Amino acid sequence: MSYYFRQKLLGDLASTIKGMLHFQKSVEVWMEEAGLAITDSQFKKLSKYVDLLKDKNEELNLTTITDSQEVWIKHILDSLMAAPLFKVEPGMKVMDIGTGGGLPGIPLAILFPSVEFTLVDSTQKKIDAVREFAHELNLKNVICIAERAEVLGHDSKHRDQYDLVLSRALAPLRILIELTVPLIHLYGNVIAYKGPEYISELSSSQNSITKLRAESPRVFQYSLPEDMGNRTLIQITKKRVTPDAYPRRDGVPNKRPL
Ligand code: SAH
Repeated sequence: MSYYFRQKLLGDLASTIKGMLHFQKSVEVWMEEAGLAITDSQFKKLSKYVDLLKDKNEELNLTTITDSQEVWIKHILDSLMAAPLFKVEPGMKVMDIGTGGGLPGIPLAILFPSVEFTLVDSTQKKIDAVREFAHELNLKNVICIAERAEVLGHDSKHRDQYDLVLSRALAPLRILIELTVPLIHLYGNVIAYKGPEYISELSSSQNSITKLRAESPRVFQYSLPEDMGNRTLIQITKKRVTPDAYPRRDGVPNKRPL
């Protein structure tokens, strides 16, 4: 390799590393503003996940967002925004339904290595990609399942088993409630990641909340940095046993929302 070429490569590498360090600082500031702290090794894993997601995206269409800063803010940071609501206990079990390319499950599994995350999507190819990501990232706390929420909701290995079920961009809230509430145990929680239009989502979910015997939704609002928009988390607690009839069979919750 010529001297010039080698110097150029080293120069490129140096500016990449400088860029990364600068970027890590911004990420740390954003996280701090959100009340989150990450270690260097977690930052490295999150960065590697951003790269994996971008690489695999060309093949699988996992996200419409591809600019690095936007991926960091709109996907990674947004996914981590539920972290302050976690009450981490030994043996805690979390499910992410409709995880797509692993959001919010993978970033949260990186943040909470002692929590077991079950990531679910009905599309086999997406779950295959997420399983590969978890392997590449050496995440021992991630289980991947290709299945529909309606099926898992009647499977005794999963119904009433989770402390927390998360869902981001899965469906309108009233449908999401039917798909997720059966999977949490009594006094467990569902956290739905939503946009700013939560008031209309909540008001059209009253029937679903009553039918599923879920109670007292709480709303947490936040703004993403760099003016990337307002978001909400809607947390719902299960205070009574879910009737056997729910979730209704495959596809019905979407076709005939409660
Ligand atoms: N949570 C990801 C992906 C959202 S797209 C993100 O925030 O980027 C919604 C995903 O839900 C799709 O990947 C789709 O395959 C999956 N999905 C839709 N209905 C489902 C169901 N009933 N059960 C399981 N997964 C479902």
